[in-house]
Amino acid sequence: MVPRVSCHSVGAGGHICGGGYGLLSRRDGLTVDHLVQVDVATVRGGTAAVTQAHRDDPAGSPEQDLFWAHTGGGGGNFGVVLRYHFAAGIPAPPPRVWLSSVAWPWGELVERPGDFEKLLRNYGEFLAAHSGADEPVYQGLFTLLKLTHHSNGNVVLLSQWDGEDPGPLEDFVAAVESGMETRATVQTQSVAGLLLPYPEKHRQMPWFQATMTLNGSGDNQRGKYKSAYHRVPFDQGHIDALWEWLRRDVEGLDLKQTLVQIDSYGCRINARRPGDTAVPQRDSIMKLQYQTYWTDERKDADHLEYLAGLYRAVYRRTGGVPEIDTDTDGAYVNYPDVDLGTAGQADAAYPRLYYKGGYERLQRAKEYWDGKGVFRHAQSVVAPGG
Ligand SMILES: Cc1cc2nc3c(=O)[nH]c(=O)nc-3n(C[C@H](O)[C@H](O)[C@H](O)COP(=O)(O)OP(=O)(O)OC[C@H]3O[C@@H](n4cnc5c(N)ncnc54)[C@H](O)[C@@H]3O)c2cc1C
Repeated sequence: MVPRVSCHSVGAGGHICGGGYGLLSRRDGLTVDHLVQVDVATVRGGTAAVTQAHRDDPAGSPEQDLFWAHTGGGGGNFGVVLRYHFAAGIPAPPPRVWLSSVAWPWGELVERPGDFEKLLRNYGEFLAAHSGADEPVYQGLFTLLKLTHHSNGNVVLLSQWDGEDPGPLEDFVAAVESGMETRATVQTQSVAGLLLPYPEKHRQMPWFQATMTLNGSGDNQRGKYKSAYHRVPFDQGHIDALWEWLRRDVEGLDLKQTLVQIDSYGCRINARRPGDTAVPQRDSIMKLQYQTYWTDERKDADHLEYLAGLYRAVYRRTGGVPEIDTDTDGAYVNYPDVDLGTAGQADAAYPRLYYKGGYERLQRAKEYWDGKGVFRHAQSVVAPGG
């Protein structure tokens, strides 16, 4: 098993080279932490050729740069990956895991604004205390706090716990709702297509069954993602913006499938240094996914505008984006977001927010392997001077 995605319908070709994380990443790191070789078809000099680029190619060689570029540089930039090779001894999946899903009714949270704030503070503080690279108890815990738009009806905390004893899982849920008057119930409303098909809060099952159970992909829909890495618990500005925007209605717009999903992060992900792979965010404790789904294309502009407004409000202090800062640390290339700028735009933020200081090395690989920019898209890596 390589640690990757929560939704099993996600593919491999573009996903792995963007870094890849999933419900076992606090225990086993990112997908690319286990990658050792990529076989890539490039068109260097106008001729198609396959290069086998290995982690142990000579330091500073174009081949090692090409390998490194596929450990987080993102798809569609350097060539076509024909094959990914993973290290011998990749982790075994746990035989069984606990799945837990609890919910707090929005109707009660609206009555008690202090509870919403407490929930966010407790969640962030728990993760700040339990996400170190050598965390002794909670590496096997992965959690997704689904802060839905209020029209959905419930805020959901979905967790996977890799341990026989459910005690630490129960302690975690108790810590998250500590001090709140609103008490968690079992989840009753689906969030973005996902509602666990059993009536209790926690249930143990084989890992593979849990993985299948968590797949909320469902029918094809339209969707928009934005993302952010958070290094520390939320500040008052983040909480106030979330509280205001998640209760805001837009006439004629159904926001039941709109949410800010706060994934746990860290532990073994943070055992790597920023330059080891092209995923430089290696000290975050939370990864935020801003998501909205809909089916009617006439609503495209409204959904995009709402999500952009929510995101700008949360990161108002840092220019409307999760700037490289003490609190936040950029965004994830696998949730590509054109609001962060497009290729060729002088002030585009995406090179900095996705790649931080690693962008220059990606540009070096781009110049050598695809200097003419045959492989390109709205947020390509662009060769220097390109
Ligand atoms: C419902 C849903 C859930 C998700 N959950 C997670 C999650 O839990 N964890 C996570 O890390 N990410 C998650 N993602 C994001 C996911 O990693 C990206 O959408 C990823 O790009 C999907 O990979 P793909 O292979 O389907 O790529 P595609 O969407 O097919 O392509 C993405 C980019 O990669 C390029 N590409 C595709 N194949 C290749 C190849 N062989 N060689 C070179 N370039 C290629 C494409 O040209 C394109 O530019 C999720 C996405 C969705 C829609």
